[in-house]
Amino acid sequence: MTSRYAELHAHSNFSFLDGASHPERLVERAAELGYEALAVTDHDGFYGLVKFWSAARRVGLPAVYGAELSLEADGSAELSNEEANPLEVARLRDAERTMGGPADRDHALPGREPSFSAQAPSGRAARAPAPAPSLARASQSATPRSNASEGNRWRRGRIRRSHRTKSAERGPRDHLVLLAPSPDGYAQLSRLVTTAQLRGEKDRPSYRFEDVAQAASGGDLVALSGCWQGSIPRAAQAGDLDGALRAASKLREIFGRRLHLELWDHRMPEDDLRNDVMWEVGQRLRLPVVATNNVHYADRRDADLAEVLAAIGGRRSLQEQDGFRPATDERYLKSPEEMFARFARYPGVVERAADLGRDLAFDLRLVAPSLPNFPMPDHFRSEMDYLRHLTFEGARRVYPGADNGRSEEHTSELQSH
Ligand SMILES: [Zn+2]
Ligand SMILES: [Zn+2]
Repeated sequence: MTSRYAELHAHSNFSFLDGASHPERLVERAAELGYEALAVTDHDGFYGLVKFWSAARRVGLPAVYGAELSLEADGSAELSNEEANPLEVARLRDAERTMGGPADRDHALPGREPSFSAQAPSGRAARAPAPAPSLARASQSATPRSNASEGNRWRRGRIRRSHRTKSAERGPRDHLVLLAPSPDGYAQLSRLVTTAQLRGEKDRPSYRFEDVAQAASGGDLVALSGCWQGSIPRAAQAGDLDGALRAASKLREIFGRRLHLELWDHRMPEDDLRNDVMWEVGQRLRLPVVATNNVHYADRRDADLAEVLAAIGGRRSLQEQDGFRPATDERYLKSPEEMFARFARYPGVVERAADLGRDLAFDLRLVAPSLPNFPMPDHFRSEMDYLRHLTFEGARRVYPGADNGRSEEHTSELQSH
C-alpha cells in the first residue's frame, strides 16, 4: 500500500531564528517525498508565502497557507516560560507515571528502539501496530518507566526547548495553527494577524479571542491544535484529560469540526502520553485527529543549524545553549511511509492529514488584487512608462536643473521595483 501524507505544520526560516530551511528547500524535499501537499505555517505572519507558493508551483506541489499564532494564554495556562525547565520535565514524567501504560506501550518509548535510524525503517517494526489506544486501558496497568535516563542516552540534548525564545520571559502564549481554505480565508487570516501585529509590540502580537472567532467564522479557517505550547496539547502532555477537554471545547465553539487535533512523534518520553490524551479528546468530542510533525528543517542533518539559530535567538553561546538544546532532531520532513509507521496506533491520522492538505491547497494567484486600469494619456505604451515620465517631471520640479546622473538614479530605482 502506498502511504499518502501532507505536512500541515511546518516552519520555514521566515520563522526567524526558529525554522532553519528556506521555503524553497522545504518544497523541494516535500516533492521528493511525494507529499500530497505542504503547508507553511510560520509564526504570526505570511512572510515566506510568496517564495513558498512560487516554488510549489514550479514543482506542481499543492500549497497550503497558514500561520501559527501566539495567543495570550488564558488563566488555565500552566507554564510561565516558553522554555521548559527541568522541573517541568520532572512534572511531566510524574504525570506519565501516574497515567502509566501497558508493557507493550513501553516498547514505543524512544529509548527502547535502539535500532531506529533515519534511514532504516526499523521504527515500523519496533512499534508494532496496536489497536487504538484507550486511556482506561492505559491506566489499568501502570508501569513506571524506570529506564528513562538510559533510554534517552542517544538524545542530542538534555532539555526540551521550543521555538520563540526571544519573548520567553514575558508570560505564556497559547499557540494555535490556522490554515486558510480559500482566498477569503487567506484574507481573514491576514487581517487577523495584521491587526494583532499593529495592536501588539515587536515580536509580541496581541490577538483578541473575539477577533479570532470572527476571522474563523468569516473565513472558514481550519485550526490545528498547535505544538506543545497550544492549550490542548499542553494539558494533554501533563496527563490532564479534563483540562485538554476544556481547552478543546473552547476552541470547538469557534471552529466546530474544523478544529483538528495534532498528534506528533518526536521520540520524546512525553509523546505517547500526549498523543493518547489527544486521541481520547478527539473520540469524546468527535473532533478529527491528524498527524503532523511541527517541522523546523527539511532534513534531519539541518537540526544542527536549527540549534545554532536557537542559540542566537536566546542570545547564548553554543556552550551556554547546551542545556537548552532541543532534545530531538526529529523535526524534519518525514516520508509518508515513516509517518504511517509511527502513527499506526492511531488509525487514519496520516491519511486524514493528506486529505486535508489536498482540500486546503489553492493557487495564491487568486489572492492577487485585481487593480483597476490607471487612466493615462494615449501616447504612453504602459503604466510603467507613464510612471517613469511622471517621476522625471517630479524630479525636475523638486530638483531644478537636475542632472542626468540623478535621473539615472531614479530610473534604476524605478526599474528595481
Ligand atoms: Zn508552536
Ligand atoms: Zn510550530
